[in-house]
Amino acid sequence: MRFSTDALVIKETNVGERDRLVTLMTRNMGVIRAYAAGAKSIKSKKAAATGLLTYSNFLIEKKGENYRINEASVINTFFSSGTDIVTLSISHYFCELCLVLGPHDSSSSEEFLRLILNSLSFLIKNKKSPQLIKAITELRIAAISGYCPNLIACEGCGKFEDEKMYFKFKNGMLLCDDCVTDDDLIPIDLTIIKAMRHIVFAKFERLYSFVIPDDAANILSQITENYIKIQTEHYFKTLDFLNSIK
Ligand SMILES: [Zn+2]
Repeated sequence: MRFSTDALVIKETNVGERDRLVTLMTRNMGVIRAYAAGAKSIKSKKAAATGLLTYSNFLIEKKGENYRINEASVINTFFSSGTDIVTLSISHYFCELCLVLGPHDSSSSEEFLRLILNSLSFLIKNKKSPQLIKAITELRIAAISGYCPNLIACEGCGKFEDEKMYFKFKNGMLLCDDCVTDDDLIPIDLTIIKAMRHIVFAKFERLYSFVIPDDAANILSQITENYIKIQTEHYFKTLDFLNSIK
């Protein structure tokens, strides 16, 4: 079977002297691994198109369970020699989020890819806080991939807002001051709750169009990061690196 798809390269591994094995976040079939023969040769058109963080069009052949890339051409790249280390590290982290949480079928493939491409594009433009883009991406990915927290109201009494609200990471729920029973929970600011609600519920076209102060964005980013880690129980090595350079 032969087909064409647009996809972002989220992992590349060199195989021998000439070839590459790449993992692709595709538009219509989720995350797949494909073999790119000759892709390490500088002369090959496949070389640039199969590089990490490159968005390309691929002509792929499927034989049994194996995918082979016959042709590839670059649509857009999300790195350059001038990319700063924080931007690059967050971009690598987005790739790892796709590897861990990306779908393996067509179900949410397009939505997932669209989110990642937009987030990478905002990161590169450098007009919004990278921590805010990171938080938007983490929480929206959680929502797409079955880890959506309940942010509508207090889980205990249904109160929409209270002076003091708490977020319980393990259960992904809000609790008000009257309903909270754990004494180790810390209150979460209303600005942050509103931002989280926006990220989960906004139409995609409106997803990135809100502003919060930088210090609030940093707190939000810490919360969404912890939420992803606790919910998936996955160790993200790219995140460790990001936190070591901040
Ligand atoms: Zn309550």
